[in-house]
Amino acid sequence: MNAGQEAVWIEIVTLFPELFEVPLRTSVIGRGAERGALRFSVHDLRAHGLGRHRSVDDYPYGGGAGMVLRPEPLHAAVEPLRAAGAHVVLMDPAGERLTDRLARELSRVRHLAVICGRYEGIDERARSLADREVSIGDYVLTGGEIPALVLIDAVARLVPGVIDPESHGADSFVGGLLEHPHYTRPDVFRGVEAPAVLRSGDHGAVARWRRREALRRTLLRRPDLLADAVLSAEDEAILEGLRADTASES
Ligand code: SAM
Repeated sequence: MNAGQEAVWIEIVTLFPELFEVPLRTSVIGRGAERGALRFSVHDLRAHGLGRHRSVDDYPYGGGAGMVLRPEPLHAAVEPLRAAGAHVVLMDPAGERLTDRLARELSRVRHLAVICGRYEGIDERARSLADREVSIGDYVLTGGEIPALVLIDAVARLVPGVIDPESHGADSFVGGLLEHPHYTRPDVFRGVEAPAVLRSGDHGAVARWRRREALRRTLLRRPDLLADAVLSAEDEAILEGLRADTASES
């Protein structure tokens, strides 16, 4: 983190603040907060509940199973965050899909607020509180807390001062490819040797091997990514060779 740079501030609105206690205090994300690169505030939606029972949900108009989060507590919880300048994200299966590109974009936002839905979701009239809606994939979880943690983890690790930028510069999806394979000690495990080139000390040869293996892995597992990947003429030539190898093997 640059001296004098303020922490990226991530606020969370949830009915289950306890679900955030351990993840935001642990490992890379916890250290990022300790170092002052990240700051978290978790707000209990129940504090804005209505009546003696602090109710936050009600039956859906039109009938049907499940409950719906009422708009008033959501507005009471989120409006002050908006007024303070937060970029508000609603976790929702109907949202824009979380990708590396979106995580990088959000990592440049200095003040984020994340709304976690529950039950059947939120009253439609509360959607206007959000600047954007984000989905973590085409499946439904019981609540927005785990999706929010997925988003926060993906975003927070990219914030300067959280991890060494070199360690995420070659990660999968950066530049549009899957990452190359990794090996560590021992040299031979159950008869399988770690590639000799990785132990050669020849940095140029290591870089070439890694690029080739990233291309191979992407071609075999996620060929759809290649259409948008940033590829050099040398990459194209390697891919052509890999395609020819695959064709001759089949
Ligand atoms: N009835 C909703 C639907 O079919 O779209 C699903 C509601 S889900 C049980 C409750 C909450 O979990 C949602 O409001 C949302 O905040 C969160 N959630 C569930 N799946 C999610 C996903 N794939 N991505 C983001 N948030 C999700």
